[in-house]
Amino acid sequence: MSLSSVVIVGAGQAGFQVAASLRQGGFTGHISLIGDEPGLPYQRPPLSKAYLLGKISAANLAFRPEAFFDQQQIELLHDSATTIDRQNRHVVLASGKSLQYDHLVLATGAHNRALSIPGDDLAGVFGIKTLADANALAPRVKDVRNVVVVGSGFIGLEFAAVAAAQGASVHVVDLGDRPMARAVSAEMSSLFRQAHEAWGVQFHFRQGVKRLIGENGQVTAVETTDGQILPAELLVYGIGVIPNISIATEAGLEIENGIKVDANLLTSDPHISAIGDVACFPCIHNHGEHSRIESVPNAMDQARTVSARLLGKASPFVATPWFWTDQGNLKLQIVGLSTGYDSTVSLGSIESQQFTVLCFRKGQLVAIESCNRPGDHLAGKKILSRPPELTAAEASAPEFDLKAWELAHRA
Ligand code: FAD
Repeated sequence: MSLSSVVIVGAGQAGFQVAASLRQGGFTGHISLIGDEPGLPYQRPPLSKAYLLGKISAANLAFRPEAFFDQQQIELLHDSATTIDRQNRHVVLASGKSLQYDHLVLATGAHNRALSIPGDDLAGVFGIKTLADANALAPRVKDVRNVVVVGSGFIGLEFAAVAAAQGASVHVVDLGDRPMARAVSAEMSSLFRQAHEAWGVQFHFRQGVKRLIGENGQVTAVETTDGQILPAELLVYGIGVIPNISIATEAGLEIENGIKVDANLLTSDPHISAIGDVACFPCIHNHGEHSRIESVPNAMDQARTVSARLLGKASPFVATPWFWTDQGNLKLQIVGLSTGYDSTVSLGSIESQQFTVLCFRKGQLVAIESCNRPGDHLAGKKILSRPPELTAAEASAPEFDLKAWELAHRA
């Protein structure tokens, strides 16, 4: 397949990577990268942690300086794609411009699920998705005294750790019964719960937020579903995201919890791929079920898979998923998907905060979660990406060492 123009909608992690990988792989055709956020394409992970603490500057968030786009002849357009004309292979932008494509890559990401409760329009209420969100939030974090975080997922807890480190009183409200319940084992949740509580964070599980209370347009408190009033001059919510599918839906592409793609990350139109947070793909690490994964490694690996295909080296997307989160002094790294795990083997201890949990489903190792044990994470990535399989019986042996096992079983 010889292509002369690739148009990429969404200039985030996945969109930027596919443009960069295409050039790196020798693509000589035209590349247009359309992003509806101002400035250079940038990384999001620091927005809920290091950036708020002033440990990384806005300039250092950018993937590459402006000169890179000129040098690599990647046309970066600050615009919003509004319509896909599939018949004529054109993308129409909000500015009225129309771009012809031989192949279109949709990398439109996701937006934050809204709180949707009375008072959510008060000042002092923040979600964190964009650099603009973080810029609005950062000045308020420094001297804040009372913070409520809604949602104890990665982003909520990263922010809770930041606020606690600034000396604020932090309450976390969550409908679930333990931190990061959708993503990690009960054992790893325990470690994070204990650490946050040691930093002064107070959890309110099996609780929702009924309403926000304000004075003069500014949030002052939160009422939980069991009637508690928690003081808050700042509320940050992280209650999940919704994939940005509107242009794909209007174009008649198949949708299933995101833009549905096949094993090669192609949509129901062979001239259109979808990657990153918005793409729902058949995941071999999740029984082949169509799944959406929201992480930097997934966005980058999918971008590389699509760019390789466009350069004539098609292969199905099989990368082992992995994730990380930084909270205070804790770095949690996860490889694999623990969904539906039914047994675990733990290495190290919760007390030492150097702790690894191996999650098994029907006897098969499906995920390895490591807190402050980067060697286990690296070994785990190798173990989960190729045979032989590590069994629970082997991992339960006294003095079992994951790194040594990986080394001994290296092909
Ligand atoms: P995005 O990076 O969100 O990019 C999509 C872009 O497309 C956006 O700029 C959007 O505005 C734009 N867009 C949408 N529609 C249009 C349109 N019609 N026209 C033009 N542009 C459009 N992952 C980790 O692995 N580890 C972490 O520690 C981590 N921390 C995070 C912290 C925060 C605060 C956030 C928000 C995310 C974090 N993530 C983390 C997740 C990670 O950043 C995302 O999974 C990743 O950015 C997904 O890349 P993407 O390109 O699919 O989407």
